[in-house]
Amino acid sequence: MHHREGIQIDLRVVDPDAVGAALQYFTGSKDHNVRLREMASRRQLKISEYGVFDETTGTRIAGATEPDVYAAVGLPWIPPELRENGGEIEAALAGTLPALVTADRIRGDLHAHTDWSDGHHPIETLIEAAEARGYEYIIVSDHSQSATVARGLSVDRLREQIRTLRGLQPRFKIRILAGSECDVLADGALDLPSEVLRELDIVLAAVHSRFTQGRAEMTARIVRALENPCVQILVTRTTWRTSTTWSSASRPHAGRGSGPRRC
Ligand SMILES: [Zn+2]
Repeated sequence: MHHREGIQIDLRVVDPDAVGAALQYFTGSKDHNVRLREMASRRQLKISEYGVFDETTGTRIAGATEPDVYAAVGLPWIPPELRENGGEIEAALAGTLPALVTADRIRGDLHAHTDWSDGHHPIETLIEAAEARGYEYIIVSDHSQSATVARGLSVDRLREQIRTLRGLQPRFKIRILAGSECDVLADGALDLPSEVLRELDIVLAAVHSRFTQGRAEMTARIVRALENPCVQILVTRTTWRTSTTWSSASRPHAGRGSGPRRC
């Protein structure tokens, strides 16, 4: 099937007895499922997308729910986000699976765009949606002037946006933060002068150009941007995978410093 926004969707209809097994099987990852199959085979069981079966008799042991599938191989249910064979099976066996962040724990958003740059919605729509979700705070962090394809804001436009946000605040309970996703120029300087950045609540620094720079040059560029006392957050694209050591991943991060540095 094709979603009207162009996303391809594979729809699979399975027996109610196999829903859990199918969900588990297609969620993956491959490495995680290989481990489960090994554990099953040690118990003379066979796991497939149709269920967990006794290898000799072919009797179905489990399959209707994911917890049943995991229980059949001696494991507690493992959340899909952790299924990477990155230590989660050992943690599950030891009873030390970490508690994942759930949607109700999210207190706000520190990176959001509006139709002032390349976002889809007006500022009010963003703020109303954030408030409707129960957020305590929402940032407006549109692009800066160098990001021309993203219709980045000039100094004057940004100042106009800050005034707009300050003017909207009394109408809302949610805290509205004025921010900028400010481009880091090729030499590590920021795209907006410090006197403007100082008027913002939060500055996000982002590299959107000259990706072909060598490692040393790019590192120096980012270090210089981070040394700018106006910057609180580095925006970067990343493909995060489960850590292979659980000691660091499961431990809550210690607070570092107290609030943003003043620039
Ligand atoms: Zn952005």
